Amino acid sequence: MAEISAPRGVRDILPDESWKWAHVFRTIGETARNFGYSEVHLPIFEHTELFARGIGDTTDVVEKEMYTFTDKGGRSITLRPEATASMVRSYLEHRMDILPQPVKMWCTGPMFRYERPQKGRYRQFWQVDFESLGSPHPYADVEIIALSLEAFRRLGLTSLEVVINSVGCPACRPAYRKELSDYFASRSEELCGTCRDRLERNPLRILDCKREGCRKVTEDAPDVLGSLCEECREHFDSVRSGLDSLGAAYHIDKRLVRGLDYYTKTAYEVLSGALGSQNAVCGGGRYDNLAEAIGGPPVPGVGFAAGVDRIVMVMEQEGCSFGPEPLIDVFGVALDEPSRTELFRLVDALRRAGISADMDYGKRSMKAQMKSASSRKARFACIIGESEVAAGTVVVKNLQDGEQREIPVSDAPLDIRTQLLSTRKG
Ligand SMILES: [Zn+2]
Ligand SMILES: [Zn+2]
Repeated sequence: MAEISAPRGVRDILPDESWKWAHVFRTIGETARNFGYSEVHLPIFEHTELFARGIGDTTDVVEKEMYTFTDKGGRSITLRPEATASMVRSYLEHRMDILPQPVKMWCTGPMFRYERPQKGRYRQFWQVDFESLGSPHPYADVEIIALSLEAFRRLGLTSLEVVINSVGCPACRPAYRKELSDYFASRSEELCGTCRDRLERNPLRILDCKREGCRKVTEDAPDVLGSLCEECREHFDSVRSGLDSLGAAYHIDKRLVRGLDYYTKTAYEVLSGALGSQNAVCGGGRYDNLAEAIGGPPVPGVGFAAGVDRIVMVMEQEGCSFGPEPLIDVFGVALDEPSRTELFRLVDALRRAGISADMDYGKRSMKAQMKSASSRKARFACIIGESEVAAGTVVVKNLQDGEQREIPVSDAPLDIRTQLLSTRKG
């Protein structure tokens, strides 16, 4: 046992899982390319101010969940709890406004939040994050929704369903906010303590309280769609008709809100799984006032983020394929010590020919080495002993059908490659 273990709420992604992650990243990366999104790599820490302004300092994330520290230069630094603010900061810093708009970028990496660890929730968690910056057009929203749907479809998730709503804009939201807070005030005795605190500060957030009592009260809450201004209404209608034209099924959920002022118009989530056990696999929406919130000029934007830990978990629950498991092609078996040098040379030649090959270096019996070959699920064993060294040959044993042939050792890379290709095709 190691004396030092990983801190609470973080974990290692080990080989039995990491190959699944690689499949998820590859699939999402291909989808991104098909939709014209370029990958960027952003810093893991930023000035604390970016998140305080770009997420909102009354949110749980900023109030309670950030990993913030003072660096040796006396600056307040925060490990990123999400990627959108960094993405917009990068757009502004690199003057991407002079490029053709929208600028479409995605990134992936670990995010950090000090939350209570529970199943599927970690303090270091991975997200993929997509942002389309610079276009106010409703089709930018539709594109983002279609992209997320397509990525999840390619990953094999089923019963995908889009839930959308509009959260309005600074022109129409204050009236809705007032209407909502009057409504909740009239039923405040039914709300939980947290929601009573939210009455003044942020009544929209009461809509996504998970408590039974609060959910019951929200059922009759005024609908945001009834108070949209003309611009927001038109935008929402265009998003809906855009989704219709792509044949994407969706339904409207008036509880889907974002409590912060820079979120505007479209809010959406993608759900997967049979009814009753539906999982949100991504969330996103439009944030036309975020760039200004962090001190830039107005830049319209829309995007989504999805948790990779969660995607993998849902894929496992649904029995999705992660593609072929990366198995080894060849395991080398030496029958005695002097043969091991010859075997080592062969394994090296196989690797350089693009064949996955391995062997072990301990003095182990042939039986033990063959056992390793089968536990590594190798396709072939290459066996070399005294007589093979003398003859310049190797015994190639097909571990699937048991057939074995002795061939010149110099022919082995090409021979094995040919066999691997022919069986892969079949
Ligand atoms: Zn509006
Ligand atoms: Zn509540």
